[in-house]
Amino acid sequence: MSIHPSRLIAECPLCHTPYSDEAVRLLREFEGSRLFHCSCQKCGRSMMALMLERSGWMSTVGLVTDLEVADAIRLEDAEAITSDECIRFTQVLEMKSGEFCRFLLGQAKK
Ligand SMILES: [Zn+2]
Repeated sequence: MSIHPSRLIAECPLCHTPYSDEAVRLLREFEGSRLFHCSCQKCGRSMMALMLERSGWMSTVGLVTDLEVADAIRLEDAEAITSDECIRFTQVLEMKSGEFCRFLLGQAKK
């Protein structure tokens, strides 16, 4: 990619270091929208940017992520989590928070 049509994919929004061409990866293009993964070589943070082009105007939305580009590609076609699953997860977490904390502490020691 040699042209960055949006500032959001031209430089890291966190440390303002310009992205190299290799740091910006087009993940998906569909119906006038493009999804990018950007990795900052200076601060190490990553961002997903969704660029929408409609009738002569362009809008870009960015989200800081801990996903590596390989994870973003792998999860791109994954099934979305439903609202019922989110609610159920919250309920289970609330009921078993002590058990969950012990599990995480056990994982941290490994
Ligand atoms: Zn940065």
